[in-house]
Amino acid sequence: MGVIGDPIAHSLSPLLHNAAFDALGLDWVSVAFPVGAGSTAAALEGMRAMKIAGLSVTMPHKEQAYEAMDDTTEVARRLGAVNCVTWRDGALVGDSTDGEGFLAALRRAAGFDPGARRCLVIGAGGAARAVILALAEAGAAEVVVVNRTPARAEAAAALAGKAGRVGSGVDVVDAELVVQATPLGMTRGEGSVSDELPIDVDALHVGQVVADLVYHPRLTPLLEVATARGAVAVGGVGMLVHQGALALERWTGLVAPVEAMWAAVQARPSA
Ligand code: NAP
Repeated sequence: MGVIGDPIAHSLSPLLHNAAFDALGLDWVSVAFPVGAGSTAAALEGMRAMKIAGLSVTMPHKEQAYEAMDDTTEVARRLGAVNCVTWRDGALVGDSTDGEGFLAALRRAAGFDPGARRCLVIGAGGAARAVILALAEAGAAEVVVVNRTPARAEAAAALAGKAGRVGSGVDVVDAELVVQATPLGMTRGEGSVSDELPIDVDALHVGQVVADLVYHPRLTPLLEVATARGAVAVGGVGMLVHQGALALERWTGLVAPVEAMWAAVQARPSA
């Protein structure tokens, strides 16, 4: 098994999956393959030739990997992207477990069910699109998309059908769930978080759940503010663990040992 991406050296996928294989008593191993942009198809042909049972796919390969699949799930087709490839009798099957992994993490960390709830997603890239589709599929009343580039916000909001619309920072007040799905907050810059994010973080309040997909650092500037303002803060590690657990289930057909995977990640010192 493995993960392809660039950069990939700091990927936690092999750690997660190797902990799971140990817990399951499987003599399998996962490694990180540094694969540059433009080499997606070649890497996947290598997977086919070497009968690698499963690959996680991360930046910058998710869209190109989709094009190289023999078969795809409905979710992958709607997103036009895959983060999980399974070798099945010589055929490569592509799936996207990011959205389902996000919902599982949200349930675990905050007991939050998006059904009939008002949700706001900051960002319109690959991760945001997976979350927007998953929230809509889970029955969210509204999925408001706030993004730097308006055209991409429109396309992402369309994934949520009638529940989706493009919004702005002021919509944060009415949202019951706020999801931060851009790389903002990954490194602490000179400016404060309120200078960067396209929402007014001072409008966050008690009764909201605020989820940040960024997991490095574990406690992002947004989550710090959200906590200080009384909202329930959910970090990005949970989505990482659960999307990886779902991928493992696709590859092995076994129930993923989620607790062992969590423990492996928690044992890693935080940034
Ligand atoms: P992506 O496809 O490149 O999309 C990035 C998004 O962020 C776009 O909407 C982009 O806006 C926006 N953005 C980037 N820089 C910005 C800035 N300076 N100001 C405002 N908006 C900005 O990336 P992605 O794959 O969706 O990943 C987004 C984040 O989610 C990353 O930090 C990634 O590590 C994280 N992630 C976490 C998990 C997890 O398991 N926790 C899984 C996947 C991704 P434009 O449309 O205007 O360019």
